[in-house]
Amino acid sequence: MSCLFVQVVLDTPLDFCFDYRYPAGVASVQTPQVGQLVVVPFGRRTEVGLVVDVKEDSDVEESRLRDVIAVLSDIPPLNAEWIALCRFAAGYYQRPLGEVALPSIPKKIRANGQKALERAWKMLDKADVPVSVENPVKPQLHPAQQQAVEAIVHSDGFSPYVLYGVTGSGKTEIYLHAIEGLLRQKADAQALVMVPEINLTPQLEKSVRDRFPNERIVTLHSRLTEAERLRNWLAILTGRARIILGTRMAVLAPAPGLCLIVVDEEHDPSYKQQEGLRYSARDLAVWRARQLGIPVVLGSATPSLESWQHMLTGHYTRLELKERAVRDAVLPLIRLVDISRQPLNGGLSGELLQAMRQRLEKGEQSLLFLNRRGYAPVMMCEACGWVSACDRCSAYMVYHKAHRLLRCHHCGCERILPRTCPDCGNADLQALGHGTQRIEETLAGSFPDARILRIDADSTSRKGSLQQALDTIHHGQADIIVGTQMIAKGHDFRNLTLVGVINPDTALFSQDYRASERLFSLLMQVAGRAGRSTHKPGGNASEVLIQTRYPVHPLYQATLSHRYEHYVSELLAERKSAGLPPFGYQALLTAEARSIDKALAFLSEAVESIPDRYGVMVNEPIPMAMMRIANMERAQLLLESASRLALQRMLKAWLPVLRGKKSAVRWQIEVDPMTI
Ligand code: ADP
Ligand code: ZN
Ligand code: ZN
Repeated sequence: MSCLFVQVVLDTPLDFCFDYRYPAGVASVQTPQVGQLVVVPFGRRTEVGLVVDVKEDSDVEESRLRDVIAVLSDIPPLNAEWIALCRFAAGYYQRPLGEVALPSIPKKIRANGQKALERAWKMLDKADVPVSVENPVKPQLHPAQQQAVEAIVHSDGFSPYVLYGVTGSGKTEIYLHAIEGLLRQKADAQALVMVPEINLTPQLEKSVRDRFPNERIVTLHSRLTEAERLRNWLAILTGRARIILGTRMAVLAPAPGLCLIVVDEEHDPSYKQQEGLRYSARDLAVWRARQLGIPVVLGSATPSLESWQHMLTGHYTRLELKERAVRDAVLPLIRLVDISRQPLNGGLSGELLQAMRQRLEKGEQSLLFLNRRGYAPVMMCEACGWVSACDRCSAYMVYHKAHRLLRCHHCGCERILPRTCPDCGNADLQALGHGTQRIEETLAGSFPDARILRIDADSTSRKGSLQQALDTIHHGQADIIVGTQMIAKGHDFRNLTLVGVINPDTALFSQDYRASERLFSLLMQVAGRAGRSTHKPGGNASEVLIQTRYPVHPLYQATLSHRYEHYVSELLAERKSAGLPPFGYQALLTAEARSIDKALAFLSEAVESIPDRYGVMVNEPIPMAMMRIANMERAQLLLESASRLALQRMLKAWLPVLRGKKSAVRWQIEVDPMTI
């Protein structure tokens, strides 16, 4: 019998497949098959690769062909749909297929193959029978929820839905019912539920486990150990896991029986991977649903403009929940506190302090939200104007008072705060602005008896400390919580009746055109932390106080009604007139070098080398807004087109040319960038 050949992709930056001989002996039981994982020689090493094609002959010279060493034969081959998904992602985001497919396979498989696998299989078999408990309690769905569930469960083929509902309106309940309905239809059906951040998975995981005590449920996110990841991945691949919960990486879960994809908080920027393969997990989820002909549910209180526009044009179906699900849990009253004409006490207005006092009197909790950790964002000398700039970045070093440290949040660089001004010797350095630590200090002064809890990246760096802090809140052991966006999302605090938002104005003047969309959704999200449960007799009504210098700004005015659609049409009109997404498509080429001139020169040469523009608009290369990070100077080139196809064609023709250039400049291409 003649020898067969396989085409294999490896995790290398080289954008092609490698041919290997597939000798009969290597797989006594198996014939070569697309989707198999194989061990192959590569240079002097061996690597695990993925078979993407099986052929009768090869164009590679006989003498240069090498043999497949082994087949990882106890893993079922990855299915064709999964490979197609990786191929699409690779093509669309302009990366080699190997760099998409292989990194999504657990390291343990790629590193030591067989042995790790045997162990994982054993663990998997041991843990195979979930314990069964009595029937879980389910709330009676409201009519709008019922309708949404019906629509999803009875979808005919590919059906994208935008599930639009304020926080607490019962979206999660819809996911759970839809999963139940769809899993019941087919014994091997699987459902994938994605959340934006890891710290939201435990909560959702608990709801799902409580609701489906007899199903195997696995998670996929970056905090898993490699052993856990391997086990979960195998459970998914073999169809044993029926529900998969995960962060953006879960969109590449090799589930053979997917019948539903849910993307919760679909507008969240963390669905976009910011390095390596810069994919949008939401967009890939929709692509995957289309390819499989299944429903995909995009849930949000503030859907992305992309999804909203698809809804307006009828590509996506709108499912709407207009009220909070729990009876009497009304939406909090939003108040705008004009701070332009009043003195503040350590960054806090009299109204906010007063509102907090009222909560303390009734034993209720308050949450202050501010997106700045540290004590003060800048230290300054008033005598000579010295500021705490980072030497390595175009950014200020943030003051962390507890350790008397100046720390750059971009490059991680640290130094002790000098006792006197480094330039003029003035002993009186001023802290400018407020970070969470400083607000915590102010509060301790104003409310000496209150239990104050700060939650930010600094206070929760130890493993498990975030959960501990959240438990403290749930057990009522904190009166005032000060936190960054870590606590803005998802968490359901029963005794919280006041949310204060401190200094959100900077986003109004950001040059990032998505900043206001993001601010709006963040405000809705933090507002959603208040008033989740039934209002207590005699207690305070739930309130959100936004401290701003621009209370008349349309964005703030729109928050008053909690209704996103009042604002979204305005945003869409702006985007349309500027040809920005979702009305135009973009790609961003960025370059990093030791000098900005080099980076800019690289981009200019790159422009020269474009073989065909296909009508794409090529902007001037410019320095990035954050020009220097860790001593690397950064520049960018923005490409814009009204046609996604034209942009794709242009990139496809151009990037191989760019890859062929020898240059010391590091560059990256990002398709559909989130920030420009
Ligand atoms: P969302 O995901 O939109 O923020 P959830 O699904 O978490 O909202 O629901 C918010 C709260 O309302 C939860 O405590 C949930 O148990 C409750 N809830 C949801 N649907 C119902 C219902 N039909 N009847 C009673 N309570 C409900
Ligand atoms: Zn720095
Ligand atoms: Zn000075």
